Amino acid sequence: MNWYSTNGQAPLASLKKAVVKGLAEDKGLYMPCQIKKLPDEFFARIDTMTFQEIACTVAEAFFGEDVPAEQLRKIVCDTLSFDCPIVKVEDGICSLELFHGPTLAFKDVGARFMARLLRWFTREEKQELNVLVATSGDTGSAVANGFLGVDGIHVYVLYPKGKVSAIQESQFTTLGQNITALEIDGVFDDCQALVKKAFMDDELNRKMRLTSANSINVARFLPQSFYYFWGYAQMKKMGMADHLVVCVPSGNFGNICSALFAAEMGLPIKRFIAANNSNDVFYQYLQTGRYLPKASIQTLANAMDVGDPSNFARIYALYQGDYERIRSFISGAVVSDEVIRRTIRECFRETGYLTDPHGACGYRALKDGLQKGESGFFCETAHPAKFKDTVDGILAEDASLPASGRPDAAALVRDGQVVIPGRLAAFMKGKVEKTPLSKDYEDLKNYLISRQ
Ligand SMILES: *Cc1c(COP(=O)(O)O)cnc(C)c1O
Repeated sequence: MNWYSTNGQAPLASLKKAVVKGLAEDKGLYMPCQIKKLPDEFFARIDTMTFQEIACTVAEAFFGEDVPAEQLRKIVCDTLSFDCPIVKVEDGICSLELFHGPTLAFKDVGARFMARLLRWFTREEKQELNVLVATSGDTGSAVANGFLGVDGIHVYVLYPKGKVSAIQESQFTTLGQNITALEIDGVFDDCQALVKKAFMDDELNRKMRLTSANSINVARFLPQSFYYFWGYAQMKKMGMADHLVVCVPSGNFGNICSALFAAEMGLPIKRFIAANNSNDVFYQYLQTGRYLPKASIQTLANAMDVGDPSNFARIYALYQGDYERIRSFISGAVVSDEVIRRTIRECFRETGYLTDPHGACGYRALKDGLQKGESGFFCETAHPAKFKDTVDGILAEDASLPASGRPDAAALVRDGQVVIPGRLAAFMKGKVEKTPLSKDYEDLKNYLISRQ
């Protein structure tokens, strides 16, 4: 299958080219020329299938023409080495827990899939491939861990100095091997701008082979649709899939975009809610029909601190810019830091379920937005322990809160503090190695060239 660019100026690309290049020549984002509808028969029995079986069917629809079936199955099954369970939070509201992977955030799914697909496409090539990735926290750890130890691929993680938590930082600065962490003196948007500039720099691209692993890469964002099908299947089993509303805490809008693709493939989701923190560019678009990027604002849900979400271009392309259609299918919500704080406490007090600051945006927007007769799930995009300092502080502000969480929910609180799962604690024991750089593009370029 071929892939077109959202800017419409670049030639159609093969899957291999779209995955290896990441961004099209005209700076547009790749989109599949065709979105296959899955048969009714698949949806009729989806609640009897395993996560892996469902994911293989979805993967086949996008990648089946370009990757042999057996290979694709292996990539899917290696990717999904962990579950994405639906957990009931209260009547009508469930959490789709996306944090059971190696770095405890949903980005593990896309990063693991991309690393494996990229390795397969470049398996016979001699020249090293370099992945450049900008992160506001979780992308870096997911990509670094997804690619760790993969032969022939080196990963450079660019992250904003002082803007990611110590726990997040430990997950991409302690790995060594083929992973290099670059600490940029700037904000996330600076990191993203540097990466984009590097891809457009002909001289640099002659000296080294570059690719992106940001959520713009089709091999990263499309596999995220797997767990929306799986979430639906689990809701159906619980008798909660009619009039289903899906709420996605959004930053760069890659995650929600993959959910919209699932809906285009026929997944019966009634409507979507895009939950934002105070970075409200998409919300404003829904209100006014105008998309006006802004500088990002720092919030408690820092992985969503994005002032110019790159995947907006994909949403726009998916619906041919039809504002009324977009507005009727996706509603927005803005959740301030104050409301995130209140929501984490309120949800924990009333249900015993602990959300992280991103999931809190999702829970709040879903609870406020659900209408009569609807039920829904929100994505719990990271484990609360990834934001332990923030969450512990929020819980401590109210002494009347229970001292422990629900035994059935994976996120547990003991003595009023978030318990750190073992695989997260392991990262924090590693030795930190990072290279500080300014936000000046020439610094990055010289550094990269010096490493070749
Ligand atoms: C990346 C991230 C988000 C935002 O996802 P997008 O695909 O950029 O919209 C939300 N929550 C967490 C924990 C994240 O790491």
